[in-house]
Amino acid sequence: MANNQAVLQMAAALNGASRLLLVAHLSPDGDSLGSLLGLGRALMGLGKLVTVFVPDGVPQKYRFLPGADAVVVQAERLPRERCTVVLLDCGEWQRSGLPPEPFAAFPLLNIDHHRTSTGIGQYNLIDKRASATGELIYELLLALSVEIDQEVATCLYTAIVGDTGWFRFSNSTPKVHRLAARLLEAGARQELVNDQMMTMPETYLRALAVVLGRLTTFCERQGAIAWLNWNDLQQFGVTASDLEGLIDYPRSLPGVQVAALVVEIAPRTCKVSLRSRQAIDVSDLAAEFGGGGHARAAGCTIPDSELDNCVSAVRAAMERRLRHA
Ligand code: 5GP
Ligand code: MN
Repeated sequence: MANNQAVLQMAAALNGASRLLLVAHLSPDGDSLGSLLGLGRALMGLGKLVTVFVPDGVPQKYRFLPGADAVVVQAERLPRERCTVVLLDCGEWQRSGLPPEPFAAFPLLNIDHHRTSTGIGQYNLIDKRASATGELIYELLLALSVEIDQEVATCLYTAIVGDTGWFRFSNSTPKVHRLAARLLEAGARQELVNDQMMTMPETYLRALAVVLGRLTTFCERQGAIAWLNWNDLQQFGVTASDLEGLIDYPRSLPGVQVAALVVEIAPRTCKVSLRSRQAIDVSDLAAEFGGGGHARAAGCTIPDSELDNCVSAVRAAMERRLRHA
């Protein structure tokens, strides 16, 4: 259970706001989208004026989520009246994609579960033991005495299966399973979620083929790295958000302790996904490059650098960690 005091304080802060702007991180995943849309719908049910901002747009596989068609994608379309900004599943303002003007001057609430998050809001609900931000949203909704309907349950179920890898990762605690059971009892559309999230467009499979072709191992196969360049992305017509899950393949090799996927998301800008088994804390590794995340899953974006240099720098950092593991 998250710190009860923090949950109650955050619930009171949400209750006290009449106009809210909900935002998560760039390259949104199941947890960020499920949390945004689940909390958004519940707050609307309480009579609040809610805007949900997804600056990269909702990736195809998450368009089934209730409320996905009502999000604001372009910053110019955001209402500019004073409101309370709620930053979810992320602890850094820059990763929200919100323009500072006028939003950085508004009251800010921060709800997150990343170990590198320090809490940048006036009120913060940061619990790194939570499997997903969606788990914290569920506790908040209980504190707000909101009824969890089928739509909210489907959003939160998506959040939890996303960040636990369908209950495969080490964050899949007994509590998560109990929460999933409650969400299913509330009518979460498990089959729809699984079907939509497991559908792989042909473009994804083509990108996967290239990643597998470039997979390189090092340090006696304890490290694995692969990459995609800007040309690949353009050729396949994919963006970083469409590539969620590719990193699982390098990590799946037997004996691999740390895996990386480096994607040139714009010319000379590389997004790095990092995954590990017990021996290595990749949130520290990502922090070396200005990023962060969890012990077993983290990432960073390296600006102003050629792809080759990014791949070498990330590999060198992985080798250092493996030597000292
Ligand atoms: P992914 O590799 O799936 O994009 O990200 C893995 C985890 O690391 C996610 O929890 C994500 O939020 C976090 N993460 C990815 N990139 C960054 C980053 O640039 N900064 C921080 N603080 N976290 C990141
Ligand atoms: Mn998350």
